[in-house]
Amino acid sequence: MDYANSLLDLIGNTPLVKLDRTLDRPAATPADSQGPLVLAKVEYLNPGGSVKDRIARRMIDAAEASGALQPGGTIVEPTSGNTGVGLALVAQQRGYKCVFVCPDKVSEDKRNVLKAYGAEVVVCPTAVAPEHPDSYYNVSDRLASQPGAWKPDQYSNPNNPRSHYEDTGPEIWRQTDGKITHFVCGMGTGGTISGVGKYLKEQNPAIQVIGADPAGSVYSGGTGRPYLVEGVGEDFWPDTYDRTVADRVIEVSDADSFSFTRRLAREEGLLVGGSSGMAAFAAAKLAAELAADGTGADAVIVVLLPDSGRGYLTKVFNDDWLAQYGFLAAKDDQTVGEVLR
Ligand code: PMP
Repeated sequence: MDYANSLLDLIGNTPLVKLDRTLDRPAATPADSQGPLVLAKVEYLNPGGSVKDRIARRMIDAAEASGALQPGGTIVEPTSGNTGVGLALVAQQRGYKCVFVCPDKVSEDKRNVLKAYGAEVVVCPTAVAPEHPDSYYNVSDRLASQPGAWKPDQYSNPNNPRSHYEDTGPEIWRQTDGKITHFVCGMGTGGTISGVGKYLKEQNPAIQVIGADPAGSVYSGGTGRPYLVEGVGEDFWPDTYDRTVADRVIEVSDADSFSFTRRLAREEGLLVGGSSGMAAFAAAKLAAELAADGTGADAVIVVLLPDSGRGYLTKVFNDDWLAQYGFLAAKDDQTVGEVLR
């Protein structure tokens, strides 16, 4: 019989799939010519639906080994997103409690996902100063200082990049038979790019590591100006980001991120989140550059797609939401009258 003993055994070993229709080949290039091969690493196929399952498992393994997390202990983290889901999944399987602290602007849907996995969610008011006792930061620090509590802190935990150095990087190297020439991914904590990039460069120093970044974020020289794409870009430099690893950072606008995210769903069947669209847009731009300067024939570009589009149906995939921010979208809904006309 072929089955997994635990859902946790299904974390990682995600597939690579070739991007095809979303890559605009220069008009002069024959359709069957060798061009840059662009391969997407599809992280939404992890059991919790994102790349963050990997770091959740690794951070918890290490905390168990060091004794920082004791049997029956409580995991406390200020998160409302993918890291929370990963932690909740691992915690539930191993008998820990999870308490997530999030600001009140986080959607009810996101809070309900965490609760569905058995986590507790503490909501803090956004409208108070960071030093206020009810602020997001103070509440999570207070909870984390209770007996039995442990705070993974994905922005400083070395096991975040390490999980990518020991798992994600080797998977990509193996899956491409060592033929990868470029690795592209977005940066939030910087764990993915730092771990994967370090591993790949150790195998072959010629491999180019390219960050994709929302315009406004510090990674591409911004000052923290707001942007809409979620999960990537920062207004500070996290400890988990290795500043020596990226050879280049490609800045991507919200408009390009969102329109490419929609194209991935419509043309490639990949229903992914906005940070995936952002990274894939950068990979497509790189492929076009390599094709144009004649160096792309043997290029193998791997782009990591961190999560699923299911969490963004009311945003990136909602025409009215896009229109509200001035982004144009193809109109999806038609009235019966329009269809019958
Ligand atoms: N995309 C999404 C949707 C994320 O949640 C994250 C993690 N914040 C990232 C990309 C970036 O990954 P990393 O933290 O490893 O840089």
